[in-house]
Amino acid sequence: MNADEFREQGKKMIDYVAKYLDTIGDRRVTPNVEPGYLKSLIPLEAPEIGEKFDDIMADIEPKIMNGMVHWQHPRFHAYFPSGASYPSILADILGDVLGVIGFSWASGPACTEMEGIVLDWLGKMMGLPETFLQSNEKGNGGGCIQTSASECVLVSILAARALAIQKLKKQSPNADEGVLLSKLMAYCSKEAHSCLEKGSMIAFTKLRILDTDENFCLRGETVKKAMEEDIKNGLVPFFVSTTIGTTSCCSVDNIKEIGPICEQNDVWLHVDAAYAGCAQICDEFRWMFEGIEYAMSVNTNPNKWLLTNFDCSCFWVRDRFKLTQALVVDPLYLQHSYSERSVDYRHWGIPLSRRFRSLKLWFVIRIYGIEGLQNYIRNHVKLAKVFEGYVKADDRFEIMNKVDMGLVCFRLKGSNGLNQKLLSTINASGKIHMVPASLNDKYVIRFCVCSETATEDDMKFAWNVITQTAGEIGTTEDSEYVDTGTPYHRPSIRNPGQVLPYDHEKDTDSLSPLQKKSTDEILKQKRSLFVRMVSDPKLYNPKIIKTRNPTVKVQPSFPPMSSSTVNGNGNGQHTIQQPQQLQSSPTSTSWISWPLAFMFQDKDDEVPFRFRNWESTLSIKPGHGEGKSNRTSPEGEHLKPISPNGGRRSLSPTPSKITRSKSPQNN
Ligand code: PLP
Repeated sequence: MNADEFREQGKKMIDYVAKYLDTIGDRRVTPNVEPGYLKSLIPLEAPEIGEKFDDIMADIEPKIMNGMVHWQHPRFHAYFPSGASYPSILADILGDVLGVIGFSWASGPACTEMEGIVLDWLGKMMGLPETFLQSNEKGNGGGCIQTSASECVLVSILAARALAIQKLKKQSPNADEGVLLSKLMAYCSKEAHSCLEKGSMIAFTKLRILDTDENFCLRGETVKKAMEEDIKNGLVPFFVSTTIGTTSCCSVDNIKEIGPICEQNDVWLHVDAAYAGCAQICDEFRWMFEGIEYAMSVNTNPNKWLLTNFDCSCFWVRDRFKLTQALVVDPLYLQHSYSERSVDYRHWGIPLSRRFRSLKLWFVIRIYGIEGLQNYIRNHVKLAKVFEGYVKADDRFEIMNKVDMGLVCFRLKGSNGLNQKLLSTINASGKIHMVPASLNDKYVIRFCVCSETATEDDMKFAWNVITQTAGEIGTTEDSEYVDTGTPYHRPSIRNPGQVLPYDHEKDTDSLSPLQKKSTDEILKQKRSLFVRMVSDPKLYNPKIIKTRNPTVKVQPSFPPMSSSTVNGNGNGQHTIQQPQQLQSSPTSTSWISWPLAFMFQDKDDEVPFRFRNWESTLSIKPGHGEGKSNRTSPEGEHLKPISPNGGRRSLSPTPSKITRSKSPQNN
């Protein structure tokens, strides 16, 4: 493609994009396709000879658009918003054209300096203390853009881990680092995002998942008690992640209470404000960040709630040297003569290469202005209140969270099955899209205001769909809905890959009895598909083990420790206990996410575990499973519920077949 062709096709692409967004409301929100649909529409081999751009564009509607969940749709109310806006899209084009890989100041001075400046802009807009700003000459703070909140959490854990090991090593110089690592304990609440579990798995550190108060908020006393118990047991608290705006219900952990406890114990406090952090640009929501001065690191995602396209997860630290010491590697070919006077972002994260991501945030902030962005956030919060009002006015329903941001959690008064049926029927209709969460074992439906241009009419439309569907499915207990859990397969009655145009009536009413029967069958499958699609993946991840009993069973080959005293002294000083003594269990309710815990068990027995809302046991005996598998990857495995009362799964030591399970939604 030469420059002339690029100009011509570029204009057409911009027209296509603008038309897509102008008319997005005419489409179904969710696709009407089944897994594998694209295989029958696209050649499975790459073309030998280059094709025409127009031919590729001709494929977009029938092949791509019909397989899309339209996240920018005004009636998309699932997850959290996926930020997108014209200025952000245009800035990304420029960033793509430049193709700069800004891993060091020398490899991209503008890219590096813009990132620091824009992160300071946003930090000030959010009211972050000066200690987090790069421009504050008295401190070591600063911000950068990471790919995702998960990455922010992971690098925070890695930085905290490095600090903790360094400190322990000073106290016990002869101790093996691996042994010191085995003492470290991180903390979060049961409503924290699953990226905490993933980060801990990668960092190979234990994570204690704590109970919340009645508003789903983590409180200081809970953290204090857990740390005291762990210190007594010879463990070393090193990291707490709090959430401002939890994924399930947008609850707000009390960092004002938790902060001082972290400070007393020399523990790294991270604040994950992936969604709700963006709202800190409005003064009236600043109460959520009370205590932020105690944090060592904070993240928020403008690619969620500040109209900036993915990827743009902003991450600030109070001491950048404490971050980079955990991540720095400095081969000769990446060094440059300005390193003393500049920031090299390659030391702030995992990848070496970085795109010019700050451009899009710079464009967005300049085009909307702080006021425009505040209006956008306030509109979402106002609309969530409007929706909450509808729910409260209908006594068949109940509100399940405190509605402070753009998220409303609600449910039909009735069983989990009933609510599951309601949600899956709505999602299968393609009219609106929402996802569930589990709060205190109750299946709740999350309604999030997501579209930039959302209006009260959209709230009304959604509420009409919900109430109409509730009326159709009935609200009595005997309409209990049980997801059969049948692994999804393409029904033979359907032409594989066939894509139906959106037509609600045709979907249901105006069909012949035979067609209707087929449609009902498809709908049943789709309900199952959507419930699976939206369920929290950790329910299906057999590797995350949480147990009420974090007893450390030390293998005899474990290297002995050099020092043998216990306990922190209140100044964050710990001496190391002999590992053989680490046998007692904490008394308060919490679960340990202990990756690979089964490797340390000394008998082939059942391990108690808990997925966030589901307690059960796990057999670790080799070959215990029903039918052995040679697979080395759990990919594609499905849970097969066989009995509503059976709560046991079997695993062979390599990930293998799951044989029995209990669907948490039907509890
Ligand atoms: N933290 C919170 C509170 C979230 O809500 C989410 C996602 O919704 C994440 C972390 C993970 O975000 P990411 O996809 O950027 O890793």
